[in-house]
Amino acid sequence: MYDLKMYQSIEQVTWCPGCGDFGILAAVKQALAQLELAPHHVMFFSGIGCGSKLPHYLKCNGYDSVHGRALPVATGFHLVNPDLKVIAVTGDGDGYGIGGNHFINTARRNVDMVHIVENNQIYALTKGQYSPTSEKGFVTATTPEGAIEAAMNPLAMAIAAGATFVARGFSNDVKNLANLVARSISHKGYALIDVLQPCVTYNKVNTKEWYKMRLYRVEDEADYNPTDKVWAFRKAQEWGQRIPSGVLYEVSLPTYEDQVRVLEAGPLFKQPLRGPTMGEDFEKTKREFM
Ligand code: SF4
Repeated sequence: MYDLKMYQSIEQVTWCPGCGDFGILAAVKQALAQLELAPHHVMFFSGIGCGSKLPHYLKCNGYDSVHGRALPVATGFHLVNPDLKVIAVTGDGDGYGIGGNHFINTARRNVDMVHIVENNQIYALTKGQYSPTSEKGFVTATTPEGAIEAAMNPLAMAIAAGATFVARGFSNDVKNLANLVARSISHKGYALIDVLQPCVTYNKVNTKEWYKMRLYRVEDEADYNPTDKVWAFRKAQEWGQRIPSGVLYEVSLPTYEDQVRVLEAGPLFKQPLRGPTMGEDFEKTKREFM
C-alpha cells in the first residue's frame, strides 16, 4: 500500500468544517493508495461546485471543466489516452441536473471511468437552492413553500441507462467508501458511486445523523445478487426509512472504447495524424505552435 502523503496537495482546503467532502477526499486517497496507483497515473475531472474542488486537493492530474460537462470531457480524454485511470467527480446538481444528459449517455456507452457524485441533495456553492435529488417538499430560498418536483433516483436511472457498476456510499463511513472507490476503479466500464454527504451549512434536513439512521449495507442481505438487474432496480427504489448502500449492480460488458475501431491501432495519442484535413499542412501548423 502506498503512503497517503503521496497524494497530498499544497492547496488550502476551503470546505466548511464538517462538510462530507472531507470524507470523500480521504476515501479517494485511501483507494488510490490501496491500489498503488501513482498520482501521475490518474486523471481527475470535475465540474463546478463545492465538491468539484476535490481534484485541487489531490496531487494527481486534474482538469476542471465547466458546469455539468465533466463526463464528456473525461470521455474525450479517455479515448485519446486510456493509459491513465479516469475519475470524474461531480455534485448532484452538476452531475444529475446540468449534466443529466451526459450522465445517461456516458452510462449507456459504458465508457471505462469512475463517476463519483457527491450527493448532498442541494446546490451548495450557490448558497442553497434545491437540486434534482432534493426531496419533494424541501424548503430552500428558491422553494420557500417546498419543492414541488419529486426527487430523481440516480441509481435506478443509471441501471436503466446501462451502467455496469452502480453503488452508493456515505462520506462519513470512510473505510467502506474507500473500498467502494477501489472496487469501482478496478471495474472495467462506467462505474457510478453516488455518495450521500452532509452539507452542514445549507442542508439542515439530510444531516450526518439522518443518513446514519437509515443506511444499511446491501451485501448483508440474504438475497444479495448484484448481477440481477431486476433485483438491483428493486433495491434502488428503496428510500426513506431504509436506504441501501454498497454495490447494488455489477456486470461485465464491452466498453465503448472496446468497440471504437480506430482504437484497434492503439491509443489516439500514439497514432500519427492522418485524413484529408490532417496531412502535412497540419504538421506544419502544429510545428508553429511548438
Ligand atoms: Fe460543504 Fe456545504 Fe460548505 Fe459546500 S457549503 S463546503 S457542501 S458544507
